[in-house]
Amino acid sequence: MKSKIVIIIVPVLLLQLNMWAQSTIPEPIFPKGVKATANFTGTVWVQILVPPDSVFNLVAGSVTFEPGARSYWHIHNAGQILMVTNGTGYTQEKGKPVRVIHRGDIVICPPNIEHWHGASPGSAMTHIALNPHADKGVVNWLRPVTDKEYNGPKDNN
Ligand code: MN
Repeated sequence: MKSKIVIIIVPVLLLQLNMWAQSTIPEPIFPKGVKATANFTGTVWVQILVPPDSVFNLVAGSVTFEPGARSYWHIHNAGQILMVTNGTGYTQEKGKPVRVIHRGDIVICPPNIEHWHGASPGSAMTHIALNPHADKGVVNWLRPVTDKEYNGPKDNN
């Protein structure tokens, strides 16, 4: 009798767990790509989606930050647009509070403004990064974001 109950209950629980996982963790849109080897703290994956060319002069990539991972401080000479496709993350412009960003948010990084972006401590975060006018230089890397900066005041949640 006991084994019959186990035979019935275990598959039902597994099915429910699977349905719960599918409903709470959306499938990634693009492949994670390759691990970044420099200019990030923690584990970060980069998948180039559109390489630069002479027609569009734009670089597009999908970047996945594991929980707690973030970019170094940096500048884009021609600015950057971020489109968050998964998870919850942080971004900050120099001198401003940390902004909490979620799936579906758009972040405009103006030209020559020092900033960083990454995951929150409790969630991975994936964004598409669009870098226009690639011939002006895609990114100038600066220094790592300290834990104090990463854990600093937030402007929302
Ligand atoms: Mn940036």
